[in-house]
Amino acid sequence: MSTSDVVIAGGGIGGLSTAFALSRLGLRVRVLEQAEQFGEVGAGIQLAPNCTRILAEYGLLEQATARGVVPDRMVMRDAVDASELTALDLRDLERRYGFPYLVIHRSDLHALFLDACRDAGVELLTEQRVTAYTQDGEKASATTDSGAVHEAPVVIAADGLHSVARRRFADDRPVSSAYVAYRGTVPIASVDRPVDLSEVVVYVGPRCHFVHYGLRGGDLLNQVAVFESPKALAGLADWGTPDELDDAFAGTCEFVRERLPHMWRDKWWRMYDRDPIDTWVDGRIALLGDAAHPPLQYLAQGAIMAIEDGWVLAEHARRRRGAGATVDWEGALAAYQAVRPEHCRRVVLTARAWGELRHLDGRRREQRNILLRARETGDYSFTDWIYGPTALVPEEEPAMFTPIPLTAADRITGVDSVAR
Ligand code: FAD
Repeated sequence: MSTSDVVIAGGGIGGLSTAFALSRLGLRVRVLEQAEQFGEVGAGIQLAPNCTRILAEYGLLEQATARGVVPDRMVMRDAVDASELTALDLRDLERRYGFPYLVIHRSDLHALFLDACRDAGVELLTEQRVTAYTQDGEKASATTDSGAVHEAPVVIAADGLHSVARRRFADDRPVSSAYVAYRGTVPIASVDRPVDLSEVVVYVGPRCHFVHYGLRGGDLLNQVAVFESPKALAGLADWGTPDELDDAFAGTCEFVRERLPHMWRDKWWRMYDRDPIDTWVDGRIALLGDAAHPPLQYLAQGAIMAIEDGWVLAEHARRRRGAGATVDWEGALAAYQAVRPEHCRRVVLTARAWGELRHLDGRRREQRNILLRARETGDYSFTDWIYGPTALVPEEEPAMFTPIPLTAADRITGVDSVAR
């Protein structure tokens, strides 16, 4: 087998986008994926300007846009009475941040990176389940369950929520939110009432929410139904079943209830994140993507953070590149470590807070609705710190603003509250 400059464990969106970013520097990159083939399960994914900016730099934005939909508005509605609470003008947002807000099928995004990696000569290996990581001086290695050892000057673990590599860094476990997501894409022609595909719509309701938007140039309608599972709260193993889906949305508006039979009702995703950790780099081994910072999906930034991680790491490697393929990896990894954990910590904790905001009930729901209705469409205080250019150094990281105190953050780190 040929030698590699970088070995990446995990061929999801994080691993492949990072492989492509590093291969653009002329580095020889090998990706080890445990599955029989590369691919993504699931439905749509939202890509905010902090991601489309990177796709543009990679020369992939045009293809991504051709495969997706660029909507005009993102609208938040109350799931009970369907009234509009607040909206983002996505065309104005594009002018503000310089890049579009795009929605795309996740398998299309994954395929885009896979094709780009193939064209760039990335070595793409399947059926390679990495079970151990070691290092010795200026070499690190990933060992698979078949006993194969893959060595390189740097090994990146992009092995997702249940990361094996993360055990080097933290003795933690995924945190259950007790929420579950159902997904479903249907041909738009099969939807028996008009749906405005120029909008991404989020219906927020008591302990539940429903999202829909168009995919593949408007041929498909993507739907996501998320709710809190009473069985999960009761500690039962069998949680998130379709009867719970129907019960959770029983009090929502007609449109949302009508869509429930059109979800994929034979599979569902239990929603986990992890508490943030401060250290992602150990010598020549680094965490990336969900392995480092799996979020709840309420800010739609999980895959984006993974793509940003790869872009930041590659940019620091580029700046520290010597003759041939030599890179000052200590310097590049230190620069990556200096900037990414703090940004992602903020996103993970803010996502939890937004989840609470979306799912309020009773008087707190009414108060939330009053505040959201009063928000100006052109108020970008909630998005500037996320959708602006990805920081390469801590000094570039913008001040953040969140609508409610990060109670979980208080417990974990004792730091962020409302604004900083
Ligand atoms: P994964 O996608 O988990 O990929 C890990 C890869 O590593 C997999 O291919 C796996 O097979 C492989 N692997 C695992 N273990 C090993 C091993 N030991 N050896 C070798 N290979 C291994 N994000 C957004 O940005 N926008 C959104 O709109 C959005 N919506 C979401 C909606 C829902 C309902 C959910 C659940 C998530 C959403 N996300 C969204 C989050 C996003 O899907 C994830 O954050 C992202 O896919 C993480 O990518 P990753 O490559 O880091 O990890």
